[in-house]
Amino acid sequence: MLDLSAFPRLALSHGPTPLEPMARLSAHLGGPNLWIKRDDCTGLATGGNKTRKLEFLIAEAVAEGADMVVTHGAVQSNHVRQTAAAACRAGLDCHGLLERRVPDAGDAYDNSGNVFLDQMFGATLEYRAAGLDMNAETVRVVETLRAAGRRPYFIPGGGSNVIGALGYVVCAEELLTQAAAMDLKIDWIVMGTGSTGTQAGLVAGLHALNAAVPVMGVSVRREKPVQIAAVHSLAEKTAAAIGADALPVEKIRVDDGYIGAGYGLPADSTIEAVMLAARQEGILLDPVYTGKGFAGMVGMVRQGFFKATDNVVFLHTGGATALFAYEAFFSDQIQPA
Ligand SMILES: *Cc1c(COP(=O)(O)O)cnc(C)c1O
Repeated sequence: MLDLSAFPRLALSHGPTPLEPMARLSAHLGGPNLWIKRDDCTGLATGGNKTRKLEFLIAEAVAEGADMVVTHGAVQSNHVRQTAAAACRAGLDCHGLLERRVPDAGDAYDNSGNVFLDQMFGATLEYRAAGLDMNAETVRVVETLRAAGRRPYFIPGGGSNVIGALGYVVCAEELLTQAAAMDLKIDWIVMGTGSTGTQAGLVAGLHALNAAVPVMGVSVRREKPVQIAAVHSLAEKTAAAIGADALPVEKIRVDDGYIGAGYGLPADSTIEAVMLAARQEGILLDPVYTGKGFAGMVGMVRQGFFKATDNVVFLHTGGATALFAYEAFFSDQIQPA
């Protein structure tokens, strides 16, 4: 058991999230035994991976006497939506900076999906053009708010710092406990990776628990060497914070073959993966993160990467709320009424 009692934590998540077989998809692909860890079912405001991070981040904000949280993301950020909801739960205000990372994305992209929910939770929003250093932009806003007498708590993009990554240390232990109770030996974990906190926390947790389960992060944005370095940097710090040994860079695995044209832009393989999960398993993925992560897993199956007897767990990190902002990308897939 890992002792995280030194870190304040606020219960936000419905856990443990289910670990379920994907029997029809496994048969359809003729591949290994595919499983899914349902972190889309964390329960907070349509769920997703940011809930686990926010249990530690919002608790720290409260412990420090903050009266508001300030964070950032893309316009259709799942992180900003979950942060806005968590802030409501804790009685804090939420201010978000949204980066226009996807050009000419249309009215639904600008106003539906996560943006609609941000506003439902009463978050105040401001916008930035693409390509700025958004953490630096947000820190500037935090300083202005502090000078005006507010007590803002800064949450980096995706909630990806050591405190946020602790949420996925918790998930590592939860998953191992669940698998042990089911007599399941997990051979691989596959997931989408973006701002790095999820993979870093998961790998640090597995490492601290001496579990030799490899994790493949499918990049949604950055090239492999850059993403490996970024995940490793945070995983090392997270391992140190929980008293684990040094974490070798070999434990950070990234595949950058499923990014397509860039962040927030679904590739053909993303669309195919979203449709496969929907029609084989009745599961909603998202067009920005889990669609790319799932496409990576499907691609690995087709390339013969896994043994037929392997148990492969896909970590579903949520995000389906963004589907409503991306409907136009699916028009070829869906029969008109
Ligand atoms: C943020 C997010 C991710 C990526 O997690 P990181 O910790 O940022 O790498 C994956 N899936 C969904 C749905 C997300 O919102």
